Amino acid sequence: MTHQLPPLPYAFDALEPYIDTLTMQIHHGKHHAAYIANLNKAIAGTPFEEMPINELLARINEVPEEIRTAVRNNGGGHSNHTLFWAIMAPNAGGAPTGALASAIDATFGSFETFKEKLTAAAINRFGSGWAWLIVKPGGALEVISTPNQDSPIMTGDTPILGIDVWEHAYYLKYQNRRPEYVANFFNVINWAQVAANFAAAQR
Ligand code: MN
Repeated sequence: MTHQLPPLPYAFDALEPYIDTLTMQIHHGKHHAAYIANLNKAIAGTPFEEMPINELLARINEVPEEIRTAVRNNGGGHSNHTLFWAIMAPNAGGAPTGALASAIDATFGSFETFKEKLTAAAINRFGSGWAWLIVKPGGALEVISTPNQDSPIMTGDTPILGIDVWEHAYYLKYQNRRPEYVANFFNVINWAQVAANFAAAQR
């Protein structure tokens, strides 16, 4: 089994006006596809070829040194983007409900404070990377950011929401205005999926 590009779960123009159509086409069809092609090339003929992507990332330190950087960058890119497409949706945004809303309130004090923390993590990540809402092994929520395509899975955490702050995620529409992209990103967050990810991470 080699890794394959998952279809986008909505149309390329579905996230307009917040995320533009051309960005979605290039991001999914070129960037994500390239991570997968390069991952498949790196693991071809190795015992890691059949391993599910998130298990591969959790066991990144067992990957032979000569392919570890390629697996880290491209395997991270594959996993991160697979999550990313799913936690966005048209007619989304707003605020979470249910157990996730309660956990966010208990952890951060309020949804607004959480939003400020995630926004700061996204804006302050220097260069390319991601801002995340993760579940720690003990079940606690935390906002973090990672450089490049590093996944929280590589350090034993479970990402349930991620904002891609690589320039390829926003430059065509927002140019250097990352804060505006991040502010608008909250209009496309699929909280039902994030809540499902949260529930899965508790098990
Ligand atoms: Mn990306």
